[in-house]
Amino acid sequence: MLYLQRFILAFSFLVGSSQAFSETFEQAIQKDSFKVEPSSVDLNDMKQALILVVGCVDFRLRDETKKLFRDNLHLLDNYSELNAPGAALAFSHKPWEAFIEENIGLIGRLHKITGVIFLDHMDCGAYRILKGDEVMKTKETERSAHLEEFKKARAKMKEKFPELKVHTLLMHLDGTVENIKE
Ligand SMILES: [Zn+2]
Repeated sequence: MLYLQRFILAFSFLVGSSQAFSETFEQAIQKDSFKVEPSSVDLNDMKQALILVVGCVDFRLRDETKKLFRDNLHLLDNYSELNAPGAALAFSHKPWEAFIEENIGLIGRLHKITGVIFLDHMDCGAYRILKGDEVMKTKETERSAHLEEFKKARAKMKEKFPELKVHTLLMHLDGTVENIKE
């Protein structure tokens, strides 16, 4: 049943996207160059970001994530973003933990960020693979797994990067985003 729902969702997404764009990705990628409209601020003068977001690689949540940053958190052109499977989960699993840690250190120096947001989401394939089907049995067990990883991430950040603030957000597939504080 779940697979059928996913199929319908994927199908309606495909139909939707073909209506929204006059050409497909395969057509567009053939071009030699593209023109993107830069924001009004001179991008050369911008030296500092406010925050680093560590998010998941899930393709379904690209636009929702952008909306969350822009519309709800008022972040626009002032955050860095890093993606790894499972977000907070990746911060305690090889091989991503070293990748994330080194990047937080580097981006901290380079972009002078003041904090890190770990943005997890429900129905995450990385949680299913790395923590097992048991964890995904109910919404409660799934949510608990995220809280557990958030706790680990906070402890690790406190140890490695005590100067950075840590925020942990859990996105649900209906668009609700929980701000888990501690
Ligand atoms: Zn995920």
